[in-house]
Amino acid sequence: MEERIHQLAKEARKLELNKSDRTRLENQVLSYAHNFLDTLKDPITYDGAYEKSLGIYEHGLAEEPTDIQALLHSTDKYIMSPGINAASGGHLGYIPGGGLYPSALADYLADVFNRYAGIFFAAPGAVRLENLLIKWMCELMGFPATATGNLTSGGSISILIAVVTARDAIHLKAKNYHKAVVYLTEQTHHALHKALRIAGLGDCTLREIPMDEGYRMIPEKLDEQVSKDRAAGHIPLLINATIGTTNTGAVDPVDQIAKIAERHKVWFHVDAAYGGFFKLVESTAHLFKGVEKADSIVLDPHKSLFLPFGTGAILIKNTEAVFRAHHYQAEYMQDMLVEDREISPADVSPELTKHFRGMRMWLPLKFFGLKPIRAALEEKMMLAQYFHQAVQKIDGVEVGPEPALSLTMFRITGLAEYDNQFNQRLIKAIQDDGRIFLSSTTINGIFWIRVCVLLFRTHIEQVKLLLAIIEEKMKGLLEGN
Ligand SMILES: *Cc1c(COP(=O)(O)O)cnc(C)c1O
Repeated sequence: MEERIHQLAKEARKLELNKSDRTRLENQVLSYAHNFLDTLKDPITYDGAYEKSLGIYEHGLAEEPTDIQALLHSTDKYIMSPGINAASGGHLGYIPGGGLYPSALADYLADVFNRYAGIFFAAPGAVRLENLLIKWMCELMGFPATATGNLTSGGSISILIAVVTARDAIHLKAKNYHKAVVYLTEQTHHALHKALRIAGLGDCTLREIPMDEGYRMIPEKLDEQVSKDRAAGHIPLLINATIGTTNTGAVDPVDQIAKIAERHKVWFHVDAAYGGFFKLVESTAHLFKGVEKADSIVLDPHKSLFLPFGTGAILIKNTEAVFRAHHYQAEYMQDMLVEDREISPADVSPELTKHFRGMRMWLPLKFFGLKPIRAALEEKMMLAQYFHQAVQKIDGVEVGPEPALSLTMFRITGLAEYDNQFNQRLIKAIQDDGRIFLSSTTINGIFWIRVCVLLFRTHIEQVKLLLAIIEEKMKGLLEGN
């Protein structure tokens, strides 16, 4: 037996690289990463040739090793080119993410250490680091020191945590799920619908509260509807307000909605996945008035905090409620009941073993300090305003509402029934060009082109380039080219 063990170990030990092999590997990977970062000076932001990525299927797993250069070559050929280059400052579609470089190095460290960040007993420092970040976000939102939260993989999981906590906080039983009512608007992110369905609440009633001309919930209508539902024996479960809707960037009147939720004693949930960190900027902070009255708040550091994808957050005021909805104790975890324990991520989330996400958030924020983050956010907001004003100077352009945060919409009008088709052709021409990426939406049958400025690499050059591209493509389309 011992002989076989030695034999196996001979092969297995290949998994531990020696220092010189590590260094060689690092150099090649880093050199590839730096080459990529260099291309961002003049990037292709969108490549619609999706068939290029099919080649990755030729590179399935094998028994024998593959040289790192070949792997980087495949990465480059099949993964890096087709689709949206989400690291490019020209990415102004959907809600762009970030990717601050020190986060990558923080991930590197987190992966090398591989600390078990799900449980306090295993990695008290890692858990405390994440709790420190949660505390910072709680303070930013005006939550009391007793509030808690979790660093999640993104907004969708954060919303799921909020939904199940709200559900369990009122001891809603399965036999009454169909009586539950959730209040939102037509512009609420579909992640809430998805979370409700996953939480078993697919049969609950969704009340889409009417919106004003700026796509914001009308609080009076909410008030009436909740009263009506209570009187009819329904169970109001959750009121959602959004700070920065994904489609239009609208901010619901949080303070008024908060008061209604308080009066009717309904869980008040704020979806600030896109807009949350604009609270760091003085000129947008007023939009957050009343956010401290929320029961739960979703933030997405991988959006307005410029971090790489896979970094979300949920803040919950009632620590006991989120704990009750998620905490488990199993026999094989009996060692973990240490004294003076702090809340562990596993106590407040569906996850047990998890990525140590705290590192990728803490390291860049400490390394840079908050000042450049605040400046970048204010700059993005002003760039959206700049675009909103400048695009109106182009003949035939109609714009959406004044941008509340950093998202604005426009379309070309005056072509009668061809309006929507023309705008569809315009966005196709912009996407085919590839230097800037924009996405579109349809609201009440009208096709809008959206511009969301949120990447830390987006500056006035990209916005000016976009304006030039719009004029160029419009001219081409109108001249029939
Ligand atoms: C992006 C977004 C979500 C979903 O978050 P993910 O991080 O993509 O899971 C939810 N709500 C709003 C308003 C968003 O912008």
